[in-house]
Amino acid sequence: MQAYDVVVVGKGNAALCAALAARDRGVTVAMLEAASPDESGGNSRFAGGVMRFAYDSVDDLRKLIDITDEEARNTDWESNTRDQFFDDLYRVTSFRTDPELSEILVTTSLDAMVWLRSQGVRFVPNYRAQSAVVDGQRRFFGRMPLEISGGGPGLVQYLTDTAARKGIDIFYETRAVALIYDGERVLGVTAKRAGKPTEFRAHTVVLACGGFEANPEWRARYLGPGWEVAKVRGTRFNMGDGLRMALDIGACPYGNWSGRHAVSWERYAPEFGVLNLPHSSYRHSYPLSIMINAEGRRFIDEGADFYNYTYAKYGAEVLKQPGHFAWQVFDAKLKALLRPEYHDKAVTRVTANTLEGLAEQLEGVDPLGFLRTVEAYNASVRIDVPFDHSKKDGRCTTGIEPRKSNWANRLDTPPYTAYAVTCGITFTFGGLRIDAETGQVLDVNFHRIPGLYTAGEMVGGLFYFNYPAGTGLVSGTVFGRIAGNGAAQGARSLSLPAV
Ligand SMILES: Cc1cc2nc3c(=O)[nH]c(=O)nc-3n(C[C@H](O)[C@H](O)[C@H](O)COP(=O)(O)OP(=O)(O)OC[C@H]3O[C@@H](n4cnc5c(N)ncnc54)[C@H](O)[C@@H]3O)c2cc1C
Repeated sequence: MQAYDVVVVGKGNAALCAALAARDRGVTVAMLEAASPDESGGNSRFAGGVMRFAYDSVDDLRKLIDITDEEARNTDWESNTRDQFFDDLYRVTSFRTDPELSEILVTTSLDAMVWLRSQGVRFVPNYRAQSAVVDGQRRFFGRMPLEISGGGPGLVQYLTDTAARKGIDIFYETRAVALIYDGERVLGVTAKRAGKPTEFRAHTVVLACGGFEANPEWRARYLGPGWEVAKVRGTRFNMGDGLRMALDIGACPYGNWSGRHAVSWERYAPEFGVLNLPHSSYRHSYPLSIMINAEGRRFIDEGADFYNYTYAKYGAEVLKQPGHFAWQVFDAKLKALLRPEYHDKAVTRVTANTLEGLAEQLEGVDPLGFLRTVEAYNASVRIDVPFDHSKKDGRCTTGIEPRKSNWANRLDTPPYTAYAVTCGITFTFGGLRIDAETGQVLDVNFHRIPGLYTAGEMVGGLFYFNYPAGTGLVSGTVFGRIAGNGAAQGARSLSLPAV
Protein backbone atom coordinates (compact mmCIF):
# COMPACT_ATOMS: atom_id res chain seq x y z
CA MET A 1 0.00 0.00 0.00
CA GLN A 2 1.15 3.57 -0.75
CA ALA A 3 -0.10 6.77 0.92
CA TYR A 4 -0.13 10.35 -0.38
CA ASP A 5 -2.06 13.53 0.28
CA VAL A 6 -3.25 13.64 -3.34
CA VAL A 7 -3.34 10.88 -5.96
CA VAL A 8 -3.82 11.96 -9.59
CA VAL A 9 -4.95 9.34 -12.09
CA GLY A 10 -3.49 9.87 -15.59
CA LYS A 11 -0.42 11.62 -16.93
CA GLY A 12 -1.70 13.81 -19.74
CA ASN A 13 -1.87 17.59 -19.70
CA ALA A 14 -4.80 17.86 -17.27
CA ALA A 15 -3.26 15.37 -14.84
CA LEU A 16 0.16 17.04 -14.95
CA CYS A 17 -1.39 20.49 -14.42
CA ALA A 18 -3.45 19.17 -11.49
CA ALA A 19 -0.44 17.44 -9.95
CA LEU A 20 1.78 20.54 -10.29
CA ALA A 21 -0.89 22.88 -8.90
CA ALA A 22 -1.41 20.57 -5.92
CA ARG A 23 2.32 20.13 -5.31
CA ASP A 24 2.83 23.91 -5.37
CA ARG A 25 0.48 24.02 -2.36
CA GLY A 26 2.87 21.87 -0.39
CA VAL A 27 1.11 18.49 -0.37
CA THR A 28 2.56 15.11 -1.39
CA VAL A 29 1.39 13.96 -4.82
CA ALA A 30 1.49 10.67 -6.76
CA MET A 31 0.47 10.19 -10.38
CA LEU A 32 -0.78 6.83 -11.69
CA GLU A 33 -0.24 6.29 -15.42
CA ALA A 34 -1.64 3.21 -17.20
CA ALA A 35 0.99 3.42 -19.95
CA SER A 36 4.71 2.69 -19.86
CA PRO A 37 7.05 5.72 -20.00
CA ASP A 38 7.42 5.18 -23.78
CA GLU A 39 3.66 5.42 -24.40
CA SER A 40 2.75 7.75 -21.55
CA GLY A 41 1.19 11.19 -21.85
CA GLY A 42 -2.23 10.33 -23.26
CA ASN A 43 -3.77 12.31 -26.07
CA SER A 44 -1.85 15.33 -24.85
CA ARG A 45 1.30 13.73 -26.22
CA PHE A 46 -0.35 13.25 -29.65
CA ALA A 47 -1.64 16.83 -29.79
CA GLY A 48 -0.43 19.20 -32.47
CA GLY A 49 -0.01 21.76 -29.71
CA VAL A 50 -2.10 24.73 -30.91
CA MET A 51 -3.67 26.69 -28.06
CA ARG A 52 -6.82 28.84 -28.07
CA PHE A 53 -6.87 31.47 -25.35
CA ALA A 54 -8.25 34.98 -24.98
CA TYR A 55 -5.88 37.82 -25.91
CA ASP A 56 -6.54 41.41 -26.89
CA SER A 57 -3.40 42.25 -28.82
CA VAL A 58 0.24 41.46 -29.35
CA ASP A 59 0.93 42.88 -25.87
CA ASP A 60 -0.81 39.87 -24.31
CA LEU A 61 1.18 37.51 -26.55
CA ARG A 62 4.36 39.10 -25.21
CA LYS A 63 3.51 37.58 -21.82
CA LEU A 64 4.09 34.20 -23.50
CA ILE A 65 6.80 34.61 -26.14
CA ASP A 66 9.49 37.12 -27.04
CA ILE A 67 8.34 39.36 -29.88
CA THR A 68 10.59 42.17 -31.09
CA ASP A 69 9.14 45.64 -31.72
CA GLU A 70 9.66 45.10 -35.44
CA GLU A 71 7.82 41.74 -35.38
CA ALA A 72 5.04 43.35 -33.36
CA ARG A 73 4.67 46.12 -35.97
CA ASN A 74 5.13 44.08 -39.15
CA THR A 75 2.85 41.16 -38.34
CA ASP A 76 -0.92 41.03 -38.10
CA TRP A 77 -1.21 39.03 -34.84
CA GLU A 78 -5.02 39.09 -34.99
CA SER A 79 -6.91 39.03 -31.67
CA ASN A 80 -9.03 36.56 -29.77
CA THR A 81 -10.79 38.81 -27.31
CA ARG A 82 -12.90 37.27 -24.57
CA ASP A 83 -15.97 38.21 -26.60
CA GLN A 84 -14.59 36.52 -29.72
CA PHE A 85 -13.67 33.39 -27.75
CA PHE A 86 -17.16 33.30 -26.17
CA ASP A 87 -18.80 33.82 -29.56
CA ASP A 88 -16.82 30.97 -31.14
CA LEU A 89 -17.46 28.57 -28.26
CA TYR A 90 -21.18 29.35 -28.11
CA ARG A 91 -21.61 29.27 -31.90
CA VAL A 92 -19.88 25.94 -32.53
CA THR A 93 -21.61 24.24 -29.56
CA SER A 94 -25.02 25.50 -30.74
CA PHE A 95 -25.27 27.62 -27.55
CA ARG A 96 -25.16 24.53 -25.33
CA THR A 97 -21.83 25.07 -23.60
CA ASP A 98 -22.21 25.34 -19.82
CA PRO A 99 -22.25 29.07 -18.97
CA GLU A 100 -20.24 28.76 -15.76
CA LEU A 101 -17.60 26.40 -17.14
CA SER A 102 -17.17 28.39 -20.34
CA GLU A 103 -16.94 31.67 -18.38
CA ILE A 104 -14.09 30.23 -16.32
CA LEU A 105 -12.42 28.74 -19.39
CA VAL A 106 -12.49 31.94 -21.41
CA THR A 107 -11.71 34.46 -18.68
CA THR A 108 -8.80 32.52 -17.14
CA SER A 109 -7.33 31.08 -20.34
CA LEU A 110 -4.57 33.69 -20.72
CA ASP A 111 -3.63 33.35 -17.07
CA ALA A 112 -3.47 29.56 -17.56
CA MET A 113 -1.05 30.06 -20.47
CA VAL A 114 1.16 32.33 -18.34
CA TRP A 115 1.09 29.70 -15.58
CA LEU A 116 2.08 26.97 -18.10
CA ARG A 117 5.05 29.11 -19.04
CA SER A 118 5.99 29.40 -15.36
CA GLN A 119 5.94 25.57 -15.23
CA GLY A 120 8.54 25.36 -17.98
CA VAL A 121 6.38 25.18 -21.15
CA ARG A 122 7.70 27.12 -24.15
CA PHE A 123 5.56 28.60 -26.94
CA VAL A 124 6.34 29.60 -30.53
CA PRO A 125 4.37 31.38 -33.30
CA ASN A 126 2.02 29.04 -35.16
CA TYR A 127 3.53 29.62 -38.61
CA ARG A 128 2.91 25.99 -39.60
CA ALA A 129 -0.84 25.98 -40.08
CA GLN A 130 -2.49 29.28 -39.21
CA SER A 131 -0.55 31.97 -40.98
CA ALA A 132 0.28 33.27 -44.44
CA VAL A 133 2.14 36.15 -46.04
CA VAL A 134 -0.47 38.34 -47.73
CA ASP A 135 0.57 41.43 -49.68
CA GLY A 136 4.00 41.27 -48.07
CA GLN A 137 2.67 41.12 -44.51
CA ARG A 138 2.67 38.07 -42.21
CA ARG A 139 -0.89 37.43 -41.07
CA PHE A 140 -2.31 34.94 -38.54
CA PHE A 141 -5.86 33.65 -38.93
CA GLY A 142 -8.19 31.31 -37.00
CA ARG A 143 -7.34 33.02 -33.66
CA MET A 144 -4.55 30.65 -32.68
CA PRO A 145 -1.26 32.48 -33.28
CA LEU A 146 0.77 30.38 -30.81
CA GLU A 147 1.59 26.73 -30.39
CA ILE A 148 3.73 24.77 -27.96
CA SER A 149 7.35 24.36 -28.92
CA GLY A 150 7.64 20.65 -29.74
CA GLY A 151 3.83 20.25 -29.90
CA GLY A 152 2.06 17.79 -27.59
CA PRO A 153 5.23 15.74 -26.97
CA GLY A 154 6.99 18.98 -25.98
CA LEU A 155 4.19 19.89 -23.57
CA VAL A 156 4.24 16.51 -21.83
CA GLN A 157 8.04 16.53 -21.62
CA TYR A 158 8.24 20.05 -20.16
CA LEU A 159 5.62 19.28 -17.52
CA THR A 160 7.05 15.83 -16.70
CA ASP A 161 10.49 17.37 -16.15
CA THR A 162 8.97 19.98 -13.84
CA ALA A 163 6.97 17.32 -11.98
CA ALA A 164 10.15 15.29 -11.39
CA ARG A 165 12.00 18.40 -10.19
CA LYS A 166 9.21 19.20 -7.75
CA GLY A 167 9.19 15.72 -6.23
CA ILE A 168 5.99 14.28 -7.67
CA ASP A 169 6.10 10.45 -7.77
CA ILE A 170 4.95 8.94 -11.07
CA PHE A 171 3.91 5.27 -11.16
CA TYR A 172 3.92 3.95 -14.74
CA GLU A 173 2.12 0.83 -16.00
CA THR A 174 -0.29 1.37 -13.11
CA ARG A 175 -3.88 1.29 -14.28
CA ALA A 176 -6.44 2.57 -11.77
CA VAL A 177 -9.34 0.13 -11.61
CA ALA A 178 -11.56 1.33 -8.73
CA LEU A 179 -11.99 4.10 -6.20
CA ILE A 180 -11.61 3.21 -2.55
CA TYR A 181 -14.88 4.53 -1.17
CA ASP A 182 -16.45 4.04 2.24
CA GLY A 183 -19.91 5.04 1.07
CA GLU A 184 -19.27 8.63 2.12
CA ARG A 185 -15.86 9.75 0.93
CA VAL A 186 -13.15 8.67 -1.49
CA LEU A 187 -10.09 7.35 0.35
CA GLY A 188 -7.83 6.42 -2.56
CA VAL A 189 -7.54 4.23 -5.62
CA THR A 190 -6.99 0.56 -6.31
CA ALA A 191 -4.72 0.06 -9.29
CA LYS A 192 -3.38 -2.89 -11.25
CA ARG A 193 0.41 -2.79 -11.11
CA ALA A 194 2.57 -5.58 -12.54
CA GLY A 195 -0.56 -7.74 -12.65
CA LYS A 196 -1.31 -7.24 -8.94
CA PRO A 197 -3.89 -5.02 -7.23
CA THR A 198 -2.18 -2.22 -5.28
CA GLU A 199 -3.82 0.33 -3.01
CA PHE A 200 -2.94 4.01 -3.20
CA ARG A 201 -4.46 5.68 -0.14
CA ALA A 202 -5.02 9.45 -0.37
CA HIS A 203 -6.90 12.30 1.28
CA THR A 204 -8.12 13.33 -2.18
CA VAL A 205 -8.11 11.84 -5.68
CA VAL A 206 -8.09 13.68 -9.03
CA LEU A 207 -9.34 11.64 -11.98
CA ALA A 208 -7.75 13.04 -15.15
CA CYS A 209 -7.60 9.88 -17.23
CA GLY A 210 -9.38 10.91 -20.41
CA GLY A 211 -12.59 9.91 -22.16
CA PHE A 212 -13.66 6.62 -23.77
CA GLU A 213 -12.50 7.25 -27.34
CA ALA A 214 -10.22 4.17 -27.40
CA ASN A 215 -12.99 1.83 -26.26
CA PRO A 216 -14.94 0.46 -29.28
CA GLU A 217 -17.63 -1.06 -27.10
CA TRP A 218 -18.38 2.25 -25.36
CA ARG A 219 -18.19 4.12 -28.68
CA ALA A 220 -20.87 1.87 -30.16
CA ARG A 221 -22.87 2.14 -26.94
CA TYR A 222 -22.82 5.92 -26.51
CA LEU A 223 -21.91 7.40 -29.92
CA GLY A 224 -23.99 4.96 -31.95
CA PRO A 225 -23.69 2.13 -34.46
CA GLY A 226 -20.64 2.36 -36.72
CA TRP A 227 -18.46 4.24 -34.25
CA GLU A 228 -16.65 1.05 -33.30
CA VAL A 229 -14.91 1.15 -36.71
CA ALA A 230 -13.59 4.71 -36.36
CA LYS A 231 -9.81 5.04 -36.21
CA VAL A 232 -8.43 6.38 -32.94
CA ARG A 233 -6.20 9.41 -33.52
CA GLY A 234 -4.40 9.24 -30.21
CA THR A 235 -3.67 6.97 -27.27
CA ARG A 236 -4.99 3.43 -26.84
CA PHE A 237 -5.16 3.85 -23.04
CA ASN A 238 -8.30 6.02 -22.68
CA MET A 239 -10.94 3.33 -22.16
CA GLY A 240 -13.36 5.34 -20.04
CA ASP A 241 -11.99 3.90 -16.77
CA GLY A 242 -12.19 7.18 -14.87
CA LEU A 243 -15.78 7.77 -15.95
CA ARG A 244 -16.76 4.23 -15.00
CA MET A 245 -15.07 4.43 -11.60
CA ALA A 246 -16.81 7.71 -10.79
CA LEU A 247 -20.23 6.62 -12.08
CA ASP A 248 -19.87 3.43 -10.01
CA ILE A 249 -19.93 5.49 -6.80
CA GLY A 250 -22.79 7.74 -7.87
CA ALA A 251 -21.09 10.61 -9.74
CA CYS A 252 -23.36 12.63 -11.98
CA PRO A 253 -22.87 12.24 -15.74
CA TYR A 254 -22.97 15.54 -17.63
CA GLY A 255 -22.67 16.89 -21.15
CA ASN A 256 -22.90 15.50 -24.65
CA TRP A 257 -22.46 11.74 -24.11
CA SER A 258 -23.21 10.95 -27.76
CA GLY A 259 -20.88 13.75 -28.89
CA ARG A 260 -17.26 13.55 -29.91
CA HIS A 261 -14.43 15.30 -31.67
CA ALA A 262 -13.78 13.37 -34.90
CA VAL A 263 -12.03 14.40 -38.11
CA SER A 264 -11.20 13.33 -41.65
CA TRP A 265 -8.24 10.98 -41.26
CA GLU A 266 -6.08 8.85 -43.55
CA ARG A 267 -8.32 5.99 -44.71
CA TYR A 268 -5.78 3.24 -44.01
CA ALA A 269 -4.30 4.70 -40.83
CA PRO A 270 -3.45 2.24 -38.05
CA GLU A 271 -6.07 1.52 -35.37
CA PHE A 272 -4.45 4.00 -32.92
CA GLY A 273 -2.21 7.05 -33.19
CA VAL A 274 1.50 6.54 -33.91
CA LEU A 275 3.72 8.66 -31.67
CA ASN A 276 6.65 8.99 -34.04
CA LEU A 277 4.40 9.90 -37.01
CA PRO A 278 2.26 12.53 -35.28
CA HIS A 279 0.85 14.35 -38.30
CA SER A 280 0.98 11.90 -41.19
CA SER A 281 -2.75 11.00 -41.02
CA TYR A 282 -4.06 14.61 -40.73
CA ARG A 283 -6.17 15.75 -43.71
CA HIS A 284 -7.13 19.27 -42.58
CA SER A 285 -6.81 21.02 -45.97
CA TYR A 286 -10.29 19.89 -47.04
CA PRO A 287 -11.75 23.45 -47.09
CA LEU A 288 -9.79 23.87 -50.34
CA SER A 289 -11.10 20.57 -51.78
CA ILE A 290 -14.32 18.99 -52.83
CA MET A 291 -15.09 15.90 -50.77
CA ILE A 292 -16.98 13.10 -52.48
CA ASN A 293 -18.42 9.79 -51.29
CA ALA A 294 -18.83 6.34 -52.88
CA GLU A 295 -21.65 7.65 -55.08
CA GLY A 296 -19.36 10.39 -56.33
CA ARG A 297 -21.50 12.98 -54.54
CA ARG A 298 -20.49 15.91 -52.32
CA PHE A 299 -22.06 15.73 -48.85
CA ILE A 300 -20.83 18.75 -46.83
CA ASP A 301 -20.01 22.42 -47.27
CA GLU A 302 -16.23 21.98 -47.27
CA GLY A 303 -15.67 25.73 -47.05
CA ALA A 304 -18.24 26.60 -44.39
CA ASP A 305 -15.47 28.07 -42.20
CA PHE A 306 -11.77 27.73 -41.39
CA TYR A 307 -10.97 24.09 -40.72
CA ASN A 308 -10.60 24.82 -37.01
CA TYR A 309 -14.34 25.45 -36.67
CA THR A 310 -15.59 22.50 -38.76
CA TYR A 311 -13.01 19.70 -38.67
CA ALA A 312 -14.18 18.29 -35.32
CA LYS A 313 -17.71 17.64 -36.60
CA TYR A 314 -16.92 16.59 -40.18
CA GLY A 315 -15.37 13.25 -39.17
CA ALA A 316 -18.87 12.13 -38.21
CA GLU A 317 -20.14 13.16 -41.66
CA VAL A 318 -17.48 10.94 -43.28
CA LEU A 319 -18.42 8.04 -40.99
CA LYS A 320 -22.06 8.36 -42.16
CA GLN A 321 -21.13 7.85 -45.83
CA PRO A 322 -21.47 4.43 -47.52
CA GLY A 323 -18.38 2.39 -46.60
CA HIS A 324 -17.34 5.08 -44.05
CA PHE A 325 -14.95 6.78 -46.47
CA ALA A 326 -14.57 9.81 -48.73
CA TRP A 327 -12.04 11.35 -51.12
CA GLN A 328 -10.71 14.92 -50.94
CA VAL A 329 -10.10 16.14 -54.51
CA PHE A 330 -7.78 19.03 -55.51
CA ASP A 331 -6.31 20.31 -58.73
CA ALA A 332 -2.77 21.61 -59.31
CA LYS A 333 -3.65 25.26 -58.57
CA LEU A 334 -3.87 24.71 -54.84
CA LYS A 335 -1.16 22.09 -54.36
CA ALA A 336 1.23 24.59 -52.75
CA LEU A 337 -1.37 25.45 -50.10
CA LEU A 338 -1.86 21.88 -48.84
CA ARG A 339 -0.50 21.13 -45.37
CA PRO A 340 2.90 19.41 -45.45
CA GLU A 341 1.59 15.97 -44.42
CA TYR A 342 -0.30 15.65 -47.72
CA HIS A 343 3.12 15.11 -49.30
CA ASP A 344 4.18 12.33 -46.88
CA LYS A 345 4.81 8.77 -48.06
CA ALA A 346 2.15 6.99 -45.97
CA VAL A 347 -0.74 8.73 -47.74
CA THR A 348 -3.48 7.09 -49.84
CA ARG A 349 -3.32 9.37 -52.84
CA VAL A 350 -4.11 9.03 -56.57
CA THR A 351 -3.14 11.44 -59.34
CA ALA A 352 -4.15 11.78 -63.00
CA ASN A 353 -3.88 14.27 -65.82
CA THR A 354 -7.59 14.09 -66.64
CA LEU A 355 -10.71 13.98 -64.49
CA GLU A 356 -11.74 10.77 -66.30
CA GLY A 357 -8.38 9.24 -65.43
CA LEU A 358 -8.80 10.27 -61.81
CA ALA A 359 -12.36 8.88 -61.71
CA GLU A 360 -11.03 5.43 -62.70
CA GLN A 361 -8.59 5.44 -59.81
CA LEU A 362 -10.95 6.54 -57.04
CA GLU A 363 -11.34 3.18 -55.30
CA GLY A 364 -14.93 2.42 -54.34
CA VAL A 365 -16.42 5.45 -56.15
CA ASP A 366 -19.00 5.54 -58.96
CA PRO A 367 -16.93 7.23 -61.74
CA LEU A 368 -19.92 8.68 -63.60
CA GLY A 369 -21.36 10.07 -60.39
CA PHE A 370 -18.02 11.76 -59.68
CA LEU A 371 -17.75 13.28 -63.19
CA ARG A 372 -21.32 14.60 -63.00
CA THR A 373 -20.55 16.16 -59.60
CA VAL A 374 -17.44 17.92 -60.89
CA GLU A 375 -19.25 19.23 -63.97
CA ALA A 376 -22.02 20.75 -61.88
CA TYR A 377 -19.60 22.05 -59.27
CA ASN A 378 -17.30 23.71 -61.83
CA ALA A 379 -20.29 25.46 -63.40
CA SER A 380 -21.41 26.79 -60.02
CA VAL A 381 -18.21 28.53 -58.83
CA ARG A 382 -18.40 32.33 -58.41
CA ILE A 383 -15.14 33.04 -60.26
CA ASP A 384 -15.96 36.75 -60.14
CA VAL A 385 -15.11 36.72 -56.39
CA PRO A 386 -11.32 36.73 -55.74
CA PHE A 387 -9.82 33.72 -53.96
CA ASP A 388 -7.98 34.41 -50.66
CA HIS A 389 -7.25 31.48 -48.34
CA SER A 390 -6.19 33.74 -45.43
CA LYS A 391 -9.76 34.92 -44.83
CA LYS A 392 -13.31 33.73 -45.41
CA ASP A 393 -13.31 35.00 -48.97
CA GLY A 394 -16.96 34.42 -49.88
CA ARG A 395 -15.89 32.75 -53.13
CA CYS A 396 -18.81 30.36 -53.10
CA THR A 397 -20.92 28.17 -55.37
CA THR A 398 -24.43 28.95 -56.52
CA GLY A 399 -27.27 26.62 -57.45
CA ILE A 400 -25.83 23.35 -56.11
CA GLU A 401 -26.42 21.38 -52.93
CA PRO A 402 -24.56 21.32 -50.69
CA ARG A 403 -23.22 24.79 -51.28
CA LYS A 404 -19.54 25.54 -50.84
CA SER A 405 -19.39 28.88 -48.98
CA ASN A 406 -15.72 29.89 -49.30
CA TRP A 407 -12.57 29.03 -51.22
CA ALA A 408 -14.43 27.46 -54.17
CA ASN A 409 -12.19 26.90 -57.19
CA ARG A 410 -12.96 25.08 -60.39
CA LEU A 411 -11.22 21.73 -60.82
CA ASP A 412 -9.64 22.59 -64.19
CA THR A 413 -5.86 22.46 -63.83
CA PRO A 414 -4.12 19.08 -64.13
CA PRO A 415 -2.71 17.08 -62.56
CA TYR A 416 -5.67 16.27 -60.33
CA THR A 417 -5.01 14.61 -56.98
CA ALA A 418 -7.33 12.89 -54.50
CA TYR A 419 -6.73 11.68 -50.94
CA ALA A 420 -8.75 8.87 -49.30
CA VAL A 421 -10.08 9.55 -45.82
CA THR A 422 -12.15 7.88 -43.15
CA CYS A 423 -13.24 9.04 -39.68
CA GLY A 424 -10.64 9.46 -36.94
CA ILE A 425 -11.94 10.03 -33.41
CA THR A 426 -9.99 12.42 -31.18
CA PHE A 427 -11.89 12.44 -27.89
CA THR A 428 -15.37 12.10 -26.41
CA PHE A 429 -17.45 14.94 -24.95
CA GLY A 430 -19.43 13.07 -22.27
CA GLY A 431 -18.11 13.65 -18.78
CA LEU A 432 -18.89 14.34 -15.15
CA ARG A 433 -20.62 17.25 -13.47
CA ILE A 434 -18.26 19.30 -11.33
CA ASP A 435 -18.28 22.18 -8.91
CA ALA A 436 -16.57 24.69 -11.21
CA GLU A 437 -14.79 26.56 -8.39
CA THR A 438 -12.95 23.50 -7.03
CA GLY A 439 -13.15 20.78 -9.70
CA GLN A 440 -14.90 18.56 -7.15
CA VAL A 441 -17.14 15.88 -8.67
CA LEU A 442 -20.87 16.18 -7.91
CA ASP A 443 -23.11 13.21 -7.25
CA VAL A 444 -26.49 12.65 -8.86
CA ASN A 445 -28.07 14.91 -6.23
CA PHE A 446 -25.56 17.64 -7.17
CA HIS A 447 -23.77 17.26 -3.82
CA ARG A 448 -19.96 17.29 -3.73
CA ILE A 449 -18.42 13.82 -3.38
CA PRO A 450 -15.88 14.21 -0.57
CA GLY A 451 -12.36 13.48 -1.77
CA LEU A 452 -13.09 13.28 -5.53
CA TYR A 453 -12.02 15.80 -8.21
CA THR A 454 -11.69 15.65 -11.98
CA ALA A 455 -10.21 17.53 -14.95
CA GLY A 456 -9.53 17.41 -18.70
CA GLU A 457 -11.59 15.32 -21.08
CA MET A 458 -13.49 13.95 -18.09
CA VAL A 459 -15.20 17.29 -17.37
CA GLY A 460 -18.64 17.25 -19.01
CA GLY A 461 -20.62 20.22 -20.27
CA LEU A 462 -18.10 22.30 -22.23
CA PHE A 463 -18.33 20.83 -25.71
CA TYR A 464 -21.46 19.86 -27.61
CA PHE A 465 -21.66 18.63 -31.25
CA ASN A 466 -18.50 20.53 -32.26
CA TYR A 467 -15.41 22.21 -30.86
CA PRO A 468 -13.16 25.18 -31.67
CA ALA A 469 -9.63 23.88 -32.36
CA GLY A 470 -7.02 24.41 -29.68
CA THR A 471 -9.45 24.40 -26.75
CA GLY A 472 -8.76 20.91 -25.35
CA LEU A 473 -5.30 21.63 -24.02
CA VAL A 474 -6.27 25.02 -22.61
CA SER A 475 -9.32 23.59 -20.85
CA GLY A 476 -7.13 20.77 -19.49
CA THR A 477 -4.82 23.37 -17.99
CA VAL A 478 -7.60 25.62 -16.66
CA PHE A 479 -9.57 22.82 -15.00
CA GLY A 480 -6.45 20.80 -14.14
CA ARG A 481 -5.16 23.71 -12.07
CA ILE A 482 -8.56 24.17 -10.45
CA ALA A 483 -8.83 20.47 -9.55
CA GLY A 484 -5.23 20.38 -8.29
CA ASN A 485 -5.81 23.41 -6.06
CA GLY A 486 -9.16 22.02 -4.88
CA ALA A 487 -7.66 18.60 -4.12
CA ALA A 488 -4.71 20.12 -2.25
CA GLN A 489 -7.02 22.29 -0.18
CA GLY A 490 -9.26 19.30 0.52
CA ALA A 491 -6.24 17.22 1.56
CA ARG A 492 -4.84 19.95 3.80
CA SER A 493 -8.13 20.44 5.56
CA LEU A 494 -8.11 16.72 6.43
CA SER A 495 -4.50 16.57 7.55
CA LEU A 496 -4.82 19.56 9.93
CA PRO A 497 -4.85 18.40 13.56
CA ALA A 498 -8.32 18.33 15.15
CA VAL A 499 -8.94 21.09 17.72
C1 LIG B 1 -4.01 13.74 -32.82
C2 LIG B 1 -4.50 14.74 -31.83
C3 LIG B 1 -4.20 16.09 -32.01
C4 LIG B 1 -4.66 17.04 -31.10
N1 LIG B 1 -4.28 18.34 -31.25
C5 LIG B 1 -4.65 19.26 -30.31
C6 LIG B 1 -4.17 20.59 -30.37
O1 LIG B 1 -3.35 20.95 -31.23
N2 LIG B 1 -4.63 21.48 -29.45
C7 LIG B 1 -5.50 21.12 -28.45
O2 LIG B 1 -5.89 21.97 -27.65
N3 LIG B 1 -5.95 19.84 -28.36
C8 LIG B 1 -5.53 18.91 -29.24
N4 LIG B 1 -5.95 17.62 -29.13
C9 LIG B 1 -6.88 17.28 -28.01
C10 LIG B 1 -6.08 17.17 -26.72
O3 LIG B 1 -5.01 16.30 -26.92
C11 LIG B 1 -6.95 16.68 -25.57
O4 LIG B 1 -8.08 17.51 -25.43
C12 LIG B 1 -6.15 16.71 -24.28
O5 LIG B 1 -4.89 16.17 -24.45
C13 LIG B 1 -6.87 15.97 -23.18
O6 LIG B 1 -6.05 15.96 -22.05
P1 LIG B 1 -6.37 15.02 -20.83
O7 LIG B 1 -5.26 15.22 -19.87
O8 LIG B 1 -7.76 15.18 -20.39
O9 LIG B 1 -6.31 13.52 -21.43
P2 LIG B 1 -5.08 12.70 -21.98
O10 LIG B 1 -3.98 13.58 -22.42
O11 LIG B 1 -5.61 11.73 -22.98
O12 LIG B 1 -4.55 11.90 -20.71
C14 LIG B 1 -5.23 10.79 -20.17
C15 LIG B 1 -4.22 10.01 -19.34
O13 LIG B 1 -4.87 9.03 -18.55
C16 LIG B 1 -4.16 7.80 -18.67
N5 LIG B 1 -5.11 6.74 -18.30
C17 LIG B 1 -6.24 6.34 -18.91
N6 LIG B 1 -6.88 5.41 -18.18
C18 LIG B 1 -6.13 5.24 -17.05
C19 LIG B 1 -6.28 4.44 -15.88
N7 LIG B 1 -7.33 3.61 -15.70
N8 LIG B 1 -5.32 4.51 -14.93
C20 LIG B 1 -4.24 5.33 -15.07
N9 LIG B 1 -4.07 6.11 -16.16
C21 LIG B 1 -5.01 6.07 -17.12
C22 LIG B 1 -3.66 7.81 -20.08
O14 LIG B 1 -2.61 6.89 -20.28
C23 LIG B 1 -3.19 9.26 -20.16
O15 LIG B 1 -1.94 9.42 -19.55
C24 LIG B 1 -5.48 16.63 -30.00
C25 LIG B 1 -5.75 15.28 -29.80
C26 LIG B 1 -5.25 14.34 -30.70
C27 LIG B 1 -5.53 12.88 -30.44
